[in-house]
Amino acid sequence: MNKKLLEKSRQKLEKEKVTIEKELKKFAKKDKKLKGDWDTRFPKWDGSEVGSAALEKAADEVEEYGTLLPIEYNLELKLKNIDLALEKIKRDKYGTCEKCGKEIDKKRLEVCPEARFCLKCKK
Ligand SMILES: [Zn+2]
Repeated sequence: MNKKLLEKSRQKLEKEKVTIEKELKKFAKKDKKLKGDWDTRFPKWDGSEVGSAALEKAADEVEEYGTLLPIEYNLELKLKNIDLALEKIKRDKYGTCEKCGKEIDKKRLEVCPEARFCLKCKK
């Protein structure tokens, strides 16, 4: 694995991790019991956020909750993959497919640094 690419990926991953955590904190809170798990606040948002434009537009809180859940799920999943990728960097396993063990295409890693599988195995 190319050191330069490895370092680039690591920086990208850590930056993305911060961004995602910030995004999640807007509408969800960290689950204290389950590491890496987030809960979307329901039904009322945190008091500090009441009156935000986003909330005002939401005519129905239940509907809003239903909209946020898949977003939360996606962000959470991405966060988990980022953590896994960072872990792989530490263990010197970064860039290899978790299924077939082959190297993941560098172009793919540049676009998606948290990729766990090569394109073949992802299908
Ligand atoms: Zn593979």
